[in-house]
Amino acid sequence: MWWLKDVWVIDPSQKLSAPRDVLVKGGQVLEISSSMTEEEVSVKAQGEAVDTVDGKGKFVFPGLIDVHTHLREPGQEDKEDILSGSRAAVRGGFTTILAMANTQPVIDSRALVEYVRMQGDRAGFAHVHPIGTVTKGMQGTELVEMATMKEGGAVAFSDDGKNIQNAEVMRLALEYAKLTGLLIISHCEDKDLAGEGQMRRGVSSARMGLKGIPASAESVIVARDLMLAEETGGRLHLAHISTTESVDLIRQAKARGVNVTAEVNPHHLIFCDEQLGITDTFLKVNPPLGSRADRESLIEGLRDGTIDMLATDHAPHTQAEKSRPFAEAPFGIASLETALSAVWENLVVPGRISMDRVIEAWSVTPALRFGLQGGSLVAGAPADMVLFDPDFSEVIEPATLVSKARNTPFLNKTLQGFPVMVWVEGRLVQRNRIVL
Ligand SMILES: [Zn+2]
Repeated sequence: MWWLKDVWVIDPSQKLSAPRDVLVKGGQVLEISSSMTEEEVSVKAQGEAVDTVDGKGKFVFPGLIDVHTHLREPGQEDKEDILSGSRAAVRGGFTTILAMANTQPVIDSRALVEYVRMQGDRAGFAHVHPIGTVTKGMQGTELVEMATMKEGGAVAFSDDGKNIQNAEVMRLALEYAKLTGLLIISHCEDKDLAGEGQMRRGVSSARMGLKGIPASAESVIVARDLMLAEETGGRLHLAHISTTESVDLIRQAKARGVNVTAEVNPHHLIFCDEQLGITDTFLKVNPPLGSRADRESLIEGLRDGTIDMLATDHAPHTQAEKSRPFAEAPFGIASLETALSAVWENLVVPGRISMDRVIEAWSVTPALRFGLQGGSLVAGAPADMVLFDPDFSEVIEPATLVSKARNTPFLNKTLQGFPVMVWVEGRLVQRNRIVL
């Protein structure tokens, strides 16, 4: 049994943000109360040994649920695999991750869904749930067998990495997905507008002499998909929103009652295009970093609930790939191990957003919207749980990262505020930054 004494509990699922004692027994949260005596705890332990943790000055919250991770297995295990990715997850405070379907082969059948799920179970760290593709071969033309893929364990459908260019295919996807009750996750990017762009089109892309991607490449598809969700009544989730126009469109659609949620990636809340230099391939992401004004709109959208969730878009790549010239390097940041600390240091500490809102957006809401276990420390809930130390600082070094990938803008930099203990169903899987 675990006894966390005098720890600040953040659990927006029960509107709790206060110092408490927490008991965990048999893989579940047994009790959260104001204070407990040794006698009371030993009675509740019923003979079981009690591990006591001094929680003073630390936070405990439900394990983070990341609805957007690329684990690269099957097919690109030189970048990451399900075992290394799920270890990186628990090191970063994530107890549940959703694996994107754009692997090689893509996850477009029940057998492949089952493979990802079983590899996740076998790894035994974070819970790993597969996302299936929307279309066969991610070709954007023919829909997958959604019902059988759901039976195999798919928790959502997405052609992420590619936009579904054909609006009729997207409309049918939203219509058919209703029968499964699962979400369609849209990677909003008009292929023709994006062209061969390498970063956001604007003053910075001109300065760097790189082809630009206009903000409209995202926002026109956001507008289209919101209209299709409204027309069909389908359940839509918008991945990695990055522009002011997208935030405005989502805000208006929600006011009309459209069944939509949206996520934002930490890097779009922290960085902007004017910071980019020609060697900063670690900040080359898709969608690209936007302007300072976009960043403000995204923070405001996350604060007011227009943007429902945080998600990493963990995108591991090899050093060789990211060492290429900017225009040839692949898009993406490997962020599972640094995302929470980066948000803490850059947004929570300066007072831009509250930690309560961060936990709601990264745990409570993903659980509710995707129908997953977790997101709550109510008595009886599985103890998927994180102890966070705001004073713990660490240099992000290649030797300590457990992901296979090193493509993070925080490499060789110091971050402060880290998960120092992580439990999955009451089992300790990370202690003092070491994955057990
Ligand atoms: Zn995407």
